[in-house]
Amino acid sequence: MIRKFISRVFGRHHPGKHSEPAILAAAQHGLQREDISRGCRRTIETLQENGYQAYIVGGAVRDLLAGLTPKDFDVATNATPEQVRHCFRRSRIIGRRFQIVHVSMGTEIIEVTTFRGHHGEESGNKALTDEQGRVLRDNVFGSQLEDAARRDFTVNALYYDPTSETIVDYHHGVADLRQKTLRMIGDPKTRYREDPVRMLRAVRLAAKLSLSIDPEARRPIREMGSLIENVPPSRLFDEMLKLLTSGHAVRCVRELREEGLHHGLLPLLDVILDQSLGERFVMLALESTDRRVREGKPISPGFLFATLFWHEVLAKWEPLKARGEPAIPSLFLTMDEVLDVQAEKLAITRRIAGDIKEIWALQPRFEQRSGKRPYGVLQQPRFKAGYDFLLLRVESGEVDQAVGEWWTAFLAASDEGRAAMLLPAASGETRKRRRRRRPPADNGQDATLPE
Ligand code: ATP
Ligand code: MG
Repeated sequence: MIRKFISRVFGRHHPGKHSEPAILAAAQHGLQREDISRGCRRTIETLQENGYQAYIVGGAVRDLLAGLTPKDFDVATNATPEQVRHCFRRSRIIGRRFQIVHVSMGTEIIEVTTFRGHHGEESGNKALTDEQGRVLRDNVFGSQLEDAARRDFTVNALYYDPTSETIVDYHHGVADLRQKTLRMIGDPKTRYREDPVRMLRAVRLAAKLSLSIDPEARRPIREMGSLIENVPPSRLFDEMLKLLTSGHAVRCVRELREEGLHHGLLPLLDVILDQSLGERFVMLALESTDRRVREGKPISPGFLFATLFWHEVLAKWEPLKARGEPAIPSLFLTMDEVLDVQAEKLAITRRIAGDIKEIWALQPRFEQRSGKRPYGVLQQPRFKAGYDFLLLRVESGEVDQAVGEWWTAFLAASDEGRAAMLLPAASGETRKRRRRRRPPADNGQDATLPE
């Protein structure tokens, strides 16, 4: 019986070899057409009325089966982009390399993709790849069978037809999802070589759906991790952002470390995570991001990346200050240097880089708590982000708790309360303050305190 069970579970997996999909009825999978957004259902019905096949595919089907709310609904069809466009008044073709159609339905925009062809050797239709095997062009239309085979994981290759309420499953994705397994379609090594981003997707999707990565798909990651360096920086940035804002960033980053993947990804992450203060800071930041995502609050990519690279800034900035370089100009120099290094791997958009710098540049200003300066800091457009950042620095043990408490109290205080909180004027601030607190020395001389 055990053998039978094992062969049932493992024996039937011949990814890529299936030509007859399993067709699962509603009673077998449990999805209902009401789970699908109205706009998406209308899009599919319209395509079907025009004689085309149309299904919800990918993440939405997977997430619904796993009991999660999908982010968006993608539609796959055998109609070409031109044909899709003719079915809808409000639609437009986007993308050059691989055209997709955006169909507007009320306030929704549904992404409609034509089934893509398979580029495997068997098809005799070899894709253009770089010398590492990374697929550079992937823009051939194909059948649903081929479309399923070129998707990454079995749980991502499910097609749901809301009209018949059936799921078309070529690769046993439904069973894999029930068994909590993330399984690659086809040979994992080949699939990672074609697109190294799939290694990151494996980590992210496993964390998001609480799946374990099938050993076959997990094993090659360690040795192939460096292929991520060939991925264009803008793509890597998108994927990292998805990972960090998934609501499971802590789990993902732990997993990346376990797989040795963080080296190629964020060149600084391995350095940072090796310093205990840096690690504490990054982990606290990711925990708070995860919390916010789960509470449905917005998160700012600028803030997130500012936290990731902060200890790199410190590592470069502190020695400059110690050498007597002026603090603010050397901070600005350091910021640019750190972001330039990152930019080679990770294309941080200009806007996000601007946000990062504003948050960093505010940090030394929180030390100034005398005269008009704190009021100036309050006026800064990114004050709130800068303040949250400061609190994380305090929590991680980098900054004196008193500084964080002062700002929290200053924010909450009335006008008079604020005025009373201001420290004496900045020049010789510490000395004056301390002098006041201590009674004068017996000999009547100034009690000059060590700095
Ligand atoms: P989520 O939207 O939750 O981030 P997703 O799986 O929907 O996850 P998308 O980037 O929206 O991710 O991709 C939609 C679908 O396209 C996937 O479910 C998968 O079938 C396919 N896909 C995406 N990226 C790849 C890839 N790198 N290789 C192969 N197939 C992919
Ligand atoms: Mg998706």
